[in-house]
Amino acid sequence: MPSVTASTGTIPAEEDESLVRPSSDPALAGHLELRAAIPSPLSKLENLPVEIVDEILSYLIHPRSRLPGLTEAQSAHKVPKELRRSIKNQEDLLQPPDMDRWAADIFSLHLLSHPFNALALTSKRCNELVQHYASHLVRSCNATMFNLPFARLDKYGPRCVYPDLSAIVYRRLWLQHAPRKCIYCHVVLECYPFSLVKRVLTTCEDCFYCSTMTVDEVQAQYHLSPATVLASHHIRRGAGSRWLLRVDVEALAWQLYRTRAFHNAHKEQFGKPCSLCAITTFRPEDVKRSNLKRQMAKKRSTRRVRA
Ligand SMILES: [Zn+2]
Ligand SMILES: [Zn+2]
Repeated sequence: MPSVTASTGTIPAEEDESLVRPSSDPALAGHLELRAAIPSPLSKLENLPVEIVDEILSYLIHPRSRLPGLTEAQSAHKVPKELRRSIKNQEDLLQPPDMDRWAADIFSLHLLSHPFNALALTSKRCNELVQHYASHLVRSCNATMFNLPFARLDKYGPRCVYPDLSAIVYRRLWLQHAPRKCIYCHVVLECYPFSLVKRVLTTCEDCFYCSTMTVDEVQAQYHLSPATVLASHHIRRGAGSRWLLRVDVEALAWQLYRTRAFHNAHKEQFGKPCSLCAITTFRPEDVKRSNLKRQMAKKRSTRRVRA
């Protein structure tokens, strides 16, 4: 899903001047004329018919990203885990990890703006368009969620209705009540009234564990010491937790070994020096211990993920 960025939609001063200043070069003048005729992308959105803007906004109600190495469709919770795993198994581990994704940092989801909020900040017109669309969303769920007197408003006009419905910020009202979905796999996590999940942009436990590794796992899989991993400024991690962002770990491993393959993946290597980094001798029990520690870390972190 593309991210929505704030923009004023205006042309910078020097560019504006170059568009009106006559040019001695006929080819350049023609090029500038052509550029002047092309409206900026945001003004295009603002000038679209409301029905089309509403259609666009409908795709932004529950913003969507994807899991690393998978498309949005492949990341969906409806896709069987076995199929996802077989797709991931075909990944070219000699290539760098899939970092270029919206919401790639699962630990910073709380810092992201919902597209409705981001878009409403870009201009007065966009704010009106979002407000208009959000009011439709509220109306469509009014009977089950809001119980506002829209029927009375439509029948008798705004003067006969209290409170004043035109004063409501429908964007905020809708976002406070909208179902919470995982932004990676789109599974519904919770519906209003919420008992646990409160953030607008959040993730499910499965996607959290797909996107993270523990320090112990990194040591077992990539033969990197906890001290090295925790000292790295390139590996993002949860505040005060032992969970690390998997793509950052993979990026470091790729930088060091030019492959993201796990070092202990092959049984024939057990008891011998590592064929990738050549410095570690590891045993089968290391793998079992690593798996056990991951399960224990999962149990400890369950509450933190959903809060
Ligand atoms: Zn998910
Ligand atoms: Zn190794």
